[in-house]
Amino acid sequence: MERVKKISVAIDGPSGAGKSTLARAAAKKMNFIYVDTGAIYRTAALHILRRGAEPGDGAAVAALLPEIGVTIAYDEAGEQRMFLNGEDVTDRLRTQEVSMAASSAAACPAVRAFLLDMQRELAAKNSVIMDGRDIGTVVLPGADVKIYLTASCEARAKRRWLELQGRGLPGDLEQLLRETRERDARDEGRAAAPLRPAEDAVLLDTTEMNFQESLDRMIQIIRGRTGL
Ligand code: C5P
Repeated sequence: MERVKKISVAIDGPSGAGKSTLARAAAKKMNFIYVDTGAIYRTAALHILRRGAEPGDGAAVAALLPEIGVTIAYDEAGEQRMFLNGEDVTDRLRTQEVSMAASSAAACPAVRAFLLDMQRELAAKNSVIMDGRDIGTVVLPGADVKIYLTASCEARAKRRWLELQGRGLPGDLEQLLRETRERDARDEGRAAAPLRPAEDAVLLDTTEMNFQESLDRMIQIIRGRTGL
């Protein structure tokens, strides 16, 4: 039977903390839709890069927004697909270039405002586990469950390196560590919706945890808060 009240679970934290892998697995287990909001920012960033604009130039980026159409769909396996003006760009979003551009563009308040409604709409229509940087603080301040997922910088850079390797995209670990620190500083230091735990978020530090331990803990928190 379809659940009448929609449940929302907000998962925030720095890049590489394992948010997407854990949130996806938790969503499957709880029968919720998983929404990766980073992919939404990445889709907008891809357009900015393709147009040759500087992602950190707020005015240039804001001027491009009217020509950016971002849509989200779920394939048969329940995987999120991202469309940029009708083109499926899902497989183009995980490069380091797009990662850095997304983090720069995300500091622009006009970009954040532009992408806010689609995130809220998804949560209004579905029970969701949504991951990002400002879900518990800005996008869904009334979320039923808020988790702030983190891990040490070194652990996160190493995980990103392994993830890239798995995708056949070898990376330089030292460079990834520098870029992880750079992105953290930018995500935490920006004026618009900076990365920080919501006051009512449960902190989950996975530095010393493997995947299964982290997932078990996440499910335990969600079940504890929702009674599901
Ligand atoms: O999570 P992911 O690494 O894919 O996000 C890419 C970038 O998008 C982040 O570095 C962050 O700056 C930005 N972002 C954001 N707010 C979100 C999701 C992502 O600012 N809710």
